[in-house]
Amino acid sequence: MHRGWIAAGPLLDELRGKVKAAGLWGPQIPKELGGLGLGLVEHGLVSERLGRSPLGHYVFGCQAPDAGNLEILHRYGSPEQKARWLEPLARGEIRSCFSMTEPENPGSNPTLLSCRAVRDGDDYVIDGHKWFTSSADGAAFAIVMAVTDPDASPHSRASMIIVPTDTPGFELVRNIKIMGDAGAGWASHAELRYNHVRVPVTNRLGGEGTGFLIAQERLGPGRIHHCMRWIGICERVFDTTCRRIVQRRIDAEKPLASRQIAQAWIAEARAEIDASRLMVLNAAWTIEKKGFSAARDQVSLIKFYVANVMLQLVDRAIQLHGALGITSDTVLAHYYVHERGARIYDGPDEVHKMVVAKRILARYS
Ligand SMILES: Cc1cc2nc3c(=O)[nH]c(=O)nc-3n(C[C@H](O)[C@H](O)[C@H](O)COP(=O)(O)OP(=O)(O)OC[C@H]3O[C@@H](n4cnc5c(N)ncnc54)[C@H](O)[C@@H]3O)c2cc1C
Repeated sequence: MHRGWIAAGPLLDELRGKVKAAGLWGPQIPKELGGLGLGLVEHGLVSERLGRSPLGHYVFGCQAPDAGNLEILHRYGSPEQKARWLEPLARGEIRSCFSMTEPENPGSNPTLLSCRAVRDGDDYVIDGHKWFTSSADGAAFAIVMAVTDPDASPHSRASMIIVPTDTPGFELVRNIKIMGDAGAGWASHAELRYNHVRVPVTNRLGGEGTGFLIAQERLGPGRIHHCMRWIGICERVFDTTCRRIVQRRIDAEKPLASRQIAQAWIAEARAEIDASRLMVLNAAWTIEKKGFSAARDQVSLIKFYVANVMLQLVDRAIQLHGALGITSDTVLAHYYVHERGARIYDGPDEVHKMVVAKRILARYS
């Protein structure tokens, strides 16, 4: 990641080629599309291993946001959409992005979108302002959430529409700096404007007004993948920290590992990582066996719990590394900057806690 996206490109392509040659490409991609077709539990375990590197998921072809887009295209795409977008996406020949959040509206309540897609003959004309569209830089297409019927009930107002990024009116305003780092390519988050963007109605994914329904389907498995990736990060940070504190002398005789506070942090981290893994695999198993609606509470619980376990561990690891912890000589500062969003995207902590608590308390009232 130090080299930056553009410079690392050829190396990443080479690594992707090796993964394909080894028959390991696309752990979660259906077999008929050239992937391994793993279920959620199996892919969860793979995702943990890949999460030990910031580039693991990209190199193996299971990175967000493409993985989620691939899933909904596979489920809802027309034969033409599949041939044009899904197949090259599954082969890793193109990238995509998912464009829902808007600067002027609360992303935590996506029924309040302003982006409009107005029907004009056989086309939609889209006008809107989006931001935090991850990986838009260099993407071949965006899946845009736009209001198609403002008079419908809140959850039936919006539709998902495929917009090729070379369509006139598609404007990448900037890659937004995340704590000073704008990134590039896949590792970026863009501000976008849709200025009278005209696409055929056949670019709509699923029926008109089904945007929220499809978004829910995209988020369930996506949260399992994120959580397992975060556990991979935890394991790497845990190893890095243990190695450091057994070596780092803090007086003439003893290393930092001899101090009770460091020992307590290590013990707490071990328990929290192990608990997180079991919670996430249990949620994945419930989705596989009983469907997403049976796992709603579990998915909300893991989303905020595991994100907080990871971020506390990264913060404590930096503290135990001293000044070294905030340099770019270890991977810790990268995680501190680029994983802070974990408590915000795919539902902020507060929303997940509220949803779960309401359901639990309803059983007592
Ligand atoms: C790294 C990163 C990548 C992202 N990638 C994408 C992407 O690819 N595509 C995309 O469309 N979006 C993406 N997003 C946007 C993300 O989905 C939104 O940031 C998220 O939904 C929150 O919306 P918001 O930022 O507008 O915050 P707001 O909705 O304004 O909320 C701000 C804060 O208010 C609090 N809050 C909100 N609701 C409640 C409530 N009901 N009760 C109590 N407190 C509450 C929470 O603390 C929340 O963090 C990404 C965000 C990040 C950080």
